[in-house]
Amino acid sequence: MNANLTAILYLVAAAAFIVGLKRLGSPKTARSGNSVGAAGMLLAVIVTMVNLEGVSWWLIIAGLAIGSAIGAVLALRVQMTAMPQLVAAFNGFGGIASALVAGAAFVTVSGAELASETILTMLLSVAIGTMTFTGSFIAYAKLQGIMGGSPMTYPGQRAVNAVIGAILLALLIWAQISQDGIPFWLVGVAGLILGVLTVVPIGGADMPVVIALLNSMSGLAAAATGFVISNTALIIGGALVGASGLILTALMCEAMNRTIWNVLFGAFGGDGSGAAAGAGGNAISTTPDDVAIALAYAQQVVIVPGYGLAVAQAQHALRALTADLEKRGVKVAYGIHPVAGRMPGHMNVLLAEADVPYDHLLDLDDANTTLGRTDVVLVVGANDVVNPSARDDSTSPIYGMPILEVDNANLCVVIKRSLSPGFAGLDNPLFYMNTTRMLFADAKKAMTDLGKALESI
Ligand code: NDP
Repeated sequence: MNANLTAILYLVAAAAFIVGLKRLGSPKTARSGNSVGAAGMLLAVIVTMVNLEGVSWWLIIAGLAIGSAIGAVLALRVQMTAMPQLVAAFNGFGGIASALVAGAAFVTVSGAELASETILTMLLSVAIGTMTFTGSFIAYAKLQGIMGGSPMTYPGQRAVNAVIGAILLALLIWAQISQDGIPFWLVGVAGLILGVLTVVPIGGADMPVVIALLNSMSGLAAAATGFVISNTALIIGGALVGASGLILTALMCEAMNRTIWNVLFGAFGGDGSGAAAGAGGNAISTTPDDVAIALAYAQQVVIVPGYGLAVAQAQHALRALTADLEKRGVKVAYGIHPVAGRMPGHMNVLLAEADVPYDHLLDLDDANTTLGRTDVVLVVGANDVVNPSARDDSTSPIYGMPILEVDNANLCVVIKRSLSPGFAGLDNPLFYMNTTRMLFADAKKAMTDLGKALESI
């Protein structure tokens, strides 16, 4: 294909990536944004394939078929709650693909003197790609429960990691200067080891942040590979992934009031089994009938969804309940915490699935203003994001994390199955407050029972 035409088509693909990303910023335009981005990627793949020389088409078609089949099966079968693991696996595959392409390019030009920027981009691609590969699969194993979620630490761990990091740097310099195969491949080995060692000490609760960071790294590896094989679309696509992953990481840290250093080196949180359930006093339990009466006579109700809503897949039953309340003239809003659930936007996606109007969703600040004049707040499977310790207890590990201040409502009903802690593994004083009532049940069953109780009022 003519070089100018190739450049123009890559530019179109890059524009599609940017428009797609922009549209992902709002739930209303996110679906079309996804399609625009995917169309751009398809165009980039086709242009690249048309320009390929000396490669068997059958090999490419076989690779495409196998990759697409695996991707489609994974995407169709994955539960919404397991989405972070899927993203982790995709990041890992992206990282190793970039490293392999850079490695293959190194083998192809073996013996020839390389420009210093060419060998540098190859080395960066191999180092970042291999770290991303093993780091992502450790993150996957922690989230999937294959490995324990608690941070795995040992004395001198940071020193060991620092030494391996220094060895990787020394190998990079050696390979850059000598252009020799031995240090080149050792960079890959050191990257694989460092990926494991860096993620192992990070607690399961921080895995989504780590995955956003690894996503950014997979983008950087792809961009480096783009330079290696002179592919503009790969450079732009990789840079966009690198930048957006980094921005997402920063936003997630901000929403939890943590620094990235604290996430990476703080060995925070566990697998949710840390705190003794009910450690904070006596909780008052309630029944669906009592809650239904409070809801039916309320003027303003706020729903605060959390991870438990996703586990129970209670979004449709919740929507049916709130539709009934709205018919009765009750004003219903949804308070959305930016890190509720297990991935950014988790609650927005769930509620959109159940056709909850987007303008009924309140962000943290608006929700907190509304909660001050709310009659009943229903906390559905949320825990950490409504934990008042984050506001009141300076010794709490989550102190400073912005929360939804559900204790400011006249009545707070918490729907969960027990007094067990949330993902951060901390007890929640909210459960023992005078204005809180606990409705112990699976979220979906609670929604259905509340709906039935409401019918008789
Ligand atoms: P939490 O993990 O704090 O709590 C969820 C609660 O849901 C549990 O206490 C559990 O209690 C309950 N639950 C589980 N299954 C069910 C069910 N079937 N029915 C009813 N309740 C159920 O969730 P939050 O959403 O409040 O907080 C999210 C946490 O994840 C925060 O710590 C946040 O920092 C962290 N995080 C989130 C990220 C994101 O991007 N969203 C990223 C990184 C971290 P029980 O077992 O008693 O039912």
